[in-house]
Amino acid sequence: MTALADAPLDVLPDTRPLVAGERLDPSGGAVHPHVYAATGRVTAEVALGGPREIDAAVAAGRAALPRWRALAAPERRAILTRAAQLVLADAERLSAIQTLETSLPIQFARGVPAVAADHLAYHAGWSDKVGGEVVTTWPGPALDYTVEEPYGVVAVIVPWNSPLVSMAQVAGAALAAGNCVVLKPPELAPFTSLRVGELFGEAGLPAGVLNVVPGGAGAGEALVRHPGVDKIHFTGSGATARRVLAGAQEHLTPVALELGGKSAHVIFADSDPKAAARHALSGLLIGSGQGCVNGTRVLVERPVYEQVLEHAVARLRRLPVGDPMRADTVLGPVITEVACERILGVIGRARQEGSGLLVTGGERLGGDLAPGYFVAPTIFGDVDPASELAQDEIFGPVLAFAPFDTLQRALDLANGTRYGLAAYVHTADVRRAHRVAAGLEAGNVWVNGFYGVAPSMPFGGNKQSGHGRVGGRAGLREFTRPKNVWLAL
Ligand code: NAD
Repeated sequence: MTALADAPLDVLPDTRPLVAGERLDPSGGAVHPHVYAATGRVTAEVALGGPREIDAAVAAGRAALPRWRALAAPERRAILTRAAQLVLADAERLSAIQTLETSLPIQFARGVPAVAADHLAYHAGWSDKVGGEVVTTWPGPALDYTVEEPYGVVAVIVPWNSPLVSMAQVAGAALAAGNCVVLKPPELAPFTSLRVGELFGEAGLPAGVLNVVPGGAGAGEALVRHPGVDKIHFTGSGATARRVLAGAQEHLTPVALELGGKSAHVIFADSDPKAAARHALSGLLIGSGQGCVNGTRVLVERPVYEQVLEHAVARLRRLPVGDPMRADTVLGPVITEVACERILGVIGRARQEGSGLLVTGGERLGGDLAPGYFVAPTIFGDVDPASELAQDEIFGPVLAFAPFDTLQRALDLANGTRYGLAAYVHTADVRRAHRVAAGLEAGNVWVNGFYGVAPSMPFGGNKQSGHGRVGGRAGLREFTRPKNVWLAL
């Protein structure tokens, strides 16, 4: 018997692929038993899409393209706006689904549909603002102008940890720009994407404009190698990104990549140590340590190093860990047994090699939580900057603290990984904040706080955190390409 609340299975949507507005019965026979990570119990047997379903989805997208492109921009905007409103109206069910599929604690899952709706509404607003420009030209008299055209059919591959928001950020922009989309959610978290696919249908999106095919690597491979796909947008790990690039080279299909990170908090001695410690803990708490944006390295100026570490540990010990369905839980399980063992492996090697001092956590949680995949929130101090703890994305509730003495050393440490997604600076000195922000090799820098990724921000990574951006004008441009027209007058 477990004291954990049973997951409310009646919120789950039909899990069959949604293609051209119809449900398909997958033909390949592959089934993924989706597991609720908090209890280790199977929630649904998800029939996985394969090459045939991907073929059908791409064909549906190609067939729908002329109608979607020809639709007057205000009509496209109205449909996408209605979809955003329906996502908001469905928030209670979507957040329950989100907790069930990813074990995100319900207090955070409750906010996710509103965030997704905000991204969708923002992109809906771009529908009638895509435009182009008049270009200086010669010889005259002549007119030269550009038109921003959609690519055509866009493959959108999303990760398990933020399927709803990734879908809204990426598919929202692609659709607003006039593309059709084949969305491939992962087998680990297929449900919210399928539910949102239904809601787009209710909003009046023409059949075939958005197709949803849940699947694993097989569906992903089929999609990125498909000759009918005009652009690939991939969000996930670097290892899978390499396979996506290998597949895309077959037809030289353009690819945008949103990948992982090993982001740093850089805390200077003049910042409020309590506030800085609270923000630094978000690196371990967001998504129970499973967020691309998490600041998982905490670099602290030496005079306040011990103080910040103590505040962080004291606060961490008060935070409720456990049942994601409980209203006060802030840290849930990691997504699978494999992930749990992998994270414990990193912790075990760090202890064995002495690459950091274990300050708190470090073990799997037992008792009532034993059937689930719970790793105790873990902090290491004095972490060797060259170690696995400091260099690799662990994707679990593990923070690596290290002290620094000079601004240059802080920058060297913060920039000293192969990643470059985000960075966080904590200081009361505004000039230093700008200098450090300028020196950080990251796509996104937050100073003295993190309150989420607004849809208007261009979000994305440098180095091996990817290229391309989601959000803002830059995010829309991922899904349009300029056609230049020169006209003799
Ligand atoms: P993953 O790379 O394992 O899977 C991502 C997606 O790729 C899934 O849909 C998966 O089914 C699919 N896939 C698997 N094999 C494939 C193949 N051969 N060809 C095509 N597609 C294939 O990543 P994950 O574990 O789902 O997600 C976690 C990773 O995503 C972390 O590294 C995290 O940092 C990153 N992430 C990045 C962002 C961002 O915006 N930068 C956002 C969320 C997550």
